[in-house]
Amino acid sequence: MNKLIYRFNNHGTKSGINSKEVLGGKGENLAQMAKLGLPVPPGFTISTKVCEYFYRSNKKIPKKIIQETKKEISVIEKISKKKFGDLLNPLLVSVRSGSRVSMPGMMDTILNLGLNDKTVIGLKNKTGNGRFAKDSYRRLIQMYGNVVLGIQSHFFEELIENYKLTKGVIQDTELEEEDWDGLIQNFKDVVKEKTKKIFPQDVNEQLWGAIGAVFLSWNSKRAKTYRKINYIPDHWGTAVNVQAMVFGNMGNDCATGVAFTRNPSTGKKEIFGEYLINAQGEDVVAGTRTPKNLLSMDKSMSKIFQQLKKIFNKLEKKYKDMQDIEFTVENNKLWMLQTRSGKRTPKAAIKIAVDMVQEKLISNKEAVLRIDPNTLDTLLHPTLDAKAEKKIIATGLPASPGAASGKVTFSADKAERLKEQMQDTILVRIETSPEDINGMHAAKGILTARGGMTSHAAVVARGMGKPCVSGSSEVKIDYENKLFKSGDHEVSEGDIITIDGASGKVMLGKVPTVKSNISRDFSKVMLWADKYRKLKVRTNSETPADAKIAKDFGAEGIGLCRTEHMFFDEKRIISVRQMILSKTLDDRKEALAKLLPYQKNDFVEIFKIMKGLPVTVRLLDPPLHEFLPKTDKDIDNIAKELNMSHNDIKFRIIELHEQNPMLGHRGCRLGISFPEIYQMQCEAIFEALAECKKKKIKLVIPEIMIPLVSTAAEIQILRNLVNKKVEEIKKKHSIKIKYYVGTMIELPRAALRAKDIAKYADFFSFGTNDLTQTTFGISRDDSGKFLNDYVDNKIFNRDPFVSIDERGVGELIKIATERGRVEKKSLKLGICGEHGGDPASIKFFEKVKLNYVSCSPYRVPVARLAAAQAYLEKKK
Ligand code: ADP
Ligand code: MG
Ligand code: MG
Repeated sequence: MNKLIYRFNNHGTKSGINSKEVLGGKGENLAQMAKLGLPVPPGFTISTKVCEYFYRSNKKIPKKIIQETKKEISVIEKISKKKFGDLLNPLLVSVRSGSRVSMPGMMDTILNLGLNDKTVIGLKNKTGNGRFAKDSYRRLIQMYGNVVLGIQSHFFEELIENYKLTKGVIQDTELEEEDWDGLIQNFKDVVKEKTKKIFPQDVNEQLWGAIGAVFLSWNSKRAKTYRKINYIPDHWGTAVNVQAMVFGNMGNDCATGVAFTRNPSTGKKEIFGEYLINAQGEDVVAGTRTPKNLLSMDKSMSKIFQQLKKIFNKLEKKYKDMQDIEFTVENNKLWMLQTRSGKRTPKAAIKIAVDMVQEKLISNKEAVLRIDPNTLDTLLHPTLDAKAEKKIIATGLPASPGAASGKVTFSADKAERLKEQMQDTILVRIETSPEDINGMHAAKGILTARGGMTSHAAVVARGMGKPCVSGSSEVKIDYENKLFKSGDHEVSEGDIITIDGASGKVMLGKVPTVKSNISRDFSKVMLWADKYRKLKVRTNSETPADAKIAKDFGAEGIGLCRTEHMFFDEKRIISVRQMILSKTLDDRKEALAKLLPYQKNDFVEIFKIMKGLPVTVRLLDPPLHEFLPKTDKDIDNIAKELNMSHNDIKFRIIELHEQNPMLGHRGCRLGISFPEIYQMQCEAIFEALAECKKKKIKLVIPEIMIPLVSTAAEIQILRNLVNKKVEEIKKKHSIKIKYYVGTMIELPRAALRAKDIAKYADFFSFGTNDLTQTTFGISRDDSGKFLNDYVDNKIFNRDPFVSIDERGVGELIKIATERGRVEKKSLKLGICGEHGGDPASIKFFEKVKLNYVSCSPYRVPVARLAAAQAYLEKKK
């Protein structure tokens, strides 16, 4: 069997093995730090492989592992000159989880293992510090009770809180040895009452219990949720790290802290962190005491601070990335407990990448690869309008920038439910814990009353790119009555507030927003990305406003202009309705004639913006009844306006009703039945071109797109219709017109018969929304009822309407691409579905060598970056 346990300082998985996969992130980084010669307490890693082994052996720790672990403990004993379970000089260890990718706070860690009623006396005598020994012991009972024995932590916390109240003190540090003695007894009573067993006095039993609990925590609800949100495979498993304890809670020459080597909120190159004197690790993050700014350590523990600064530099040089670090100081000696790439806001990610290129730590290629494209659009979305009136009711720490408005919600589950109803929420909590992860994901923003800049809420929100205000102590939350008070203000659940994570302000109501400025660093990264990408990026838009935004974001044309969206305008809908309701061809033509000038003007506006770039115009696609009135009152209004009877209209609506409108009389089928509709649309497009020509505007090359084609005959007929219209207009204005005619590929038959269809098409645009719908036979509008079950049961890895199903829908795209290009080498191929802006799908489109993707305006930068990454990764 392969090696299953690795010592930190003797690190070395066999070459060719990815050591993060085996050791997990925490174990790998501890080993690396030890190798760099940094002060790391001795320890070892039980590999992720054992996690699987553990589940296969009925959730028991295999014998072999027990033996090897004992051997490794004796190595730590030798190095530290202490003994596990010894009555005079006991070794204490921590048992820490660590998976391949960091899942902050998702899984469990237990500190101070090895203490019992007897060894605690040994520890007291050895250190001459009874308070410290007892404080450590009560922490062990608390953590072990919670993590291994499953007792909710509030049972312990309440005991401490109540005790402090009766004693009249505020801080834990004000409690003395005797106080902890009493509390230890109370804690042990809780354990006895809840588990019907005494707190385990056998230190080995403690160790096996803790290791097992870490493995079990891999499958806790919160860890599963986190994996689901972040697409982390369930089979990876977690490693377990066992490490000698070092103590930050032995007195005032001790401390514990966390730090980032750069500011994770802005990206600025400055030390950013927090620490507490006389405390143990988890105190800083848990928010039980308010930590101090790390910069102040320059005064309180100057030597250690200088040492830390040097280590930060060393680690950045080694990892070529911003690091998130944990450390502890024991009697003026620094110990490193963790390093990893730090979570950061999208804004910080960009600044750090650009700065590191300037510092020559990384190349611009690496910078492009490093930024998660999915986070970019949060940078482009609007920020609070500086001129808007604001009613500020509280301030907190600016933990994660961005502005968000929504209904106040006090529970994570409620936030999740409201999201399902498409409602925006702000999750308001005293402090967040890993159990809240689903709600943090669902909410638009997060507000906490307690916790610092490195609290759980702050770190997770930054990672998600979500606005967060943390530690707003003015906010007094009353969970029971579902309200919070701040000064004279009372805010109830459901009331709307706005938070600004850049300034830490909390405001009443919805504050209006304005367009955000694109930073110079952002543009730099985009230009690098453009250098490395092959796929062109276009946009889906039909209004001049959208087209303008998209072009500013770098769109290289329009990949989908949906003409029906132009019909919904108030002034036009009546003519659209007249056209649909008309019984004779003449009536219909009359209505269409009224629509023509509107549609022509729309095109002139869009062509003006897109100056010379390609514009794909899709002819009318949706079923006609979508445009018809739904209520009796609406019908009455229209009847009056069109001079028809109520019943006539009602009858026509019944006539137009379809059982399966998505598969009904729509797309090119409309063009076949009512050629005059498509004729009018073509006339509008080409007349618009003629007008642009007259106005000396650089001409776009329109690409006329016929929707829902499944046979060559359909496109043959409709291509003729387009050609005829062009000839007419050319003659009328005696001008030359360049244009293309193509089709959407959104039906499986069209993909299969791509070769025939390509005879009449200059381009294909894959309508992946419909193609996914028709390939799976799943209606997009009805899939909400069961998609989650499909994801939960692992039938779908991801929602196929979000990320392309490579093996099915992707296969059809591949087939259509190959067959189409056999017929016509110059065939232009693109994507215009929702998938065109999805980074995972873009990877696939690069692989099958499409020419372009098209996506909504705010996704354009996302697609530019994703396309560059797709190309660079393919080349690797
Ligand atoms: P997480 O991944 O939740 O941060 P960790 O395993 O890093 O969990 O540990 C939780 C806290 O305990 C951290 O603050 C860490 O620094 C501290 N800690 C872990 N191991 C030790 C140790 N051997 N000595 C002192 N503190 C430790
Ligand atoms: Mg940690
Ligand atoms: Mg479609």
